Amino acid sequence: ALPPIRGDVRFNDVSFKYDQDGPMILHHINFHATPGQSIALVGPTGAGKSTVINLLSRFYNVTEGEILIDGVDISKVTLKSLRQQMGVMLQDTFIFSGTILDNIRYGKLDATEEEVIAAAKVVRADDFIRHLKNGYHTELQERGSTLSAGQRQLIAFARTLLADPRILILDEATAAIDTQTEILLQQGLNALLKGRTSFIIAHRLSTIQNADQIFVIDHGEIVERGNHDSL
Ligand code: ATP
Ligand code: MG
Repeated sequence: ALPPIRGDVRFNDVSFKYDQDGPMILHHINFHATPGQSIALVGPTGAGKSTVINLLSRFYNVTEGEILIDGVDISKVTLKSLRQQMGVMLQDTFIFSGTILDNIRYGKLDATEEEVIAAAKVVRADDFIRHLKNGYHTELQERGSTLSAGQRQLIAFARTLLADPRILILDEATAAIDTQTEILLQQGLNALLKGRTSFIIAHRLSTIQNADQIFVIDHGEIVERGNHDSL
């Protein structure tokens, strides 16, 4: 099992192909993220951004090279102990039919109502929830069709904050959102990122501006790296 981590992440010369007979998709990826750093992954469609994240969360195993978390090769630990310390937020937030309270509590099943509300407040989700007819006890449809994309994202932030993982993975939604919502999401995200190592497939400029390191990925390689000022 992977012991409790600080969130130091290294890719050492990682190459990867999905199919044994297929082409290499990632070529010699090298980087080091220190605990608490936020990393933005950018690049054109098909570049390999999601693939990097698929390897970090071990949806697939590397073909060559190694991925180390706090110096431990992730291929040598149990999936459970790895995923317990990793919060993964994909483009489409998973919403099930049940109350908002239950949907946020999914991050920590024994959380009290007070803990859920406190988490929602930290990530700026509390305000919109309070304005719903039944507040935290509002029933959601499966897939959350009654919520906006921004609201679903805020639910995901609150849920992840409750789970309190050291490493965060976020595949930012591409859905168009207004400026006001963007500011709200940025504030919520900043609160969530505090003290965690994060990997964000970034579509919003504000997210990229705030990242400690930006990796530009193209054709399965990191072709540029730096921060928003240096790039
Ligand atoms: P996007 O911005 O469109 O999400 P991306 O940068 O996330 O793109 P990836 O999804 O990582 O790109 O895909 C990188 C390459 O790997 C692409 O050529 C894609 O066709 C291929 N690929 C992705 N998933 C698989 C899979 N499950 N099996 C085989 N090839 C795959
Ligand atoms: Mg992708």
